[in-house]
Amino acid sequence: MKIREFTRPPGRAFHLEKVDAGSTGKWKDKQKGLAQLAENQAKLFSLQNRLYASGAHGLLVVLQAMDGGGKDGTIRSALGAFSPQGVAVTSFKVPTPEELSHDFLWRVHKVAPPKGMVAIFNRSHYEDVLVVRVRALVPEAVWRPRYDHINHFEKALAEGGTRIVKIYLHISPEEQAERLKDRQQDPDEHWKFNPGDLEERKRWPDYMAAYEEALTRCNTGWAPWYAVPADHKWYRNLVVSEILIHELESLNLQFPAPIDGIEKFKISKISWP
Ligand code: ADP
Repeated sequence: MKIREFTRPPGRAFHLEKVDAGSTGKWKDKQKGLAQLAENQAKLFSLQNRLYASGAHGLLVVLQAMDGGGKDGTIRSALGAFSPQGVAVTSFKVPTPEELSHDFLWRVHKVAPPKGMVAIFNRSHYEDVLVVRVRALVPEAVWRPRYDHINHFEKALAEGGTRIVKIYLHISPEEQAERLKDRQQDPDEHWKFNPGDLEERKRWPDYMAAYEEALTRCNTGWAPWYAVPADHKWYRNLVVSEILIHELESLNLQFPAPIDGIEKFKISKISWP
């Protein structure tokens, strides 16, 4: 799989109407895709081990999507490959009064990953140029400069040793309708049904415009954006796992050198009980 097809060179625009949400790329066989995903998960686990052991980098995975876009499923499946000990997931909700009394990056910086760890953002600081823009929660003069603030912030994280990978899960409005219907009809999913999502859905074109600008303006050499076709969950998981493998492998993570004379240590016999 060519990872490049899901991103753009910095400076080039993302046109989301040209990203086929229903694509499965060259993968026509779901069973083969699932087998490859299982292999990828094993690889991710091993790469995470090296990330932790070498302690030189953190990994920040930003997940954004429309409602029903599959952020939770992606965390469970593709990102579920990681050992929970080395992962912290943060779900960004409507800011609390305390959060709102600070700058918009305050709540974000606090949960950026330390070296050796993986941080997953389920929504993120991008909400401050997405929902905030679409619903005009602050004036344009406040949200527009945020693209630059975000780029500077992410650059500081990257230069401090954080590998940043930003993934937008792209579903079609038709697929969203199906998923919202499931939530409405399946008793096990009723808890996920939120009438507010129907209001956001009506603003689909505005959200797409906001996503396009965020992805285009904040797609930098130090923090790339990927737009992943997400109507097919198995393909979405496969692509996300490939992106993460690509990003982690490019860090060339090495285990630290063993202590001197490691082979000479005697592990004593214990007679017990
Ligand atoms: P999710 O939809 O991610 O599973 P919720 O249903 O709790 O979780 O939705 C979280 C809500 O918080 C979303 O509607 C999102 O737009 C909103 N939100 C997140 N960050 C912000 C922000 N900075 N300003 C306003 N709303 C935000």
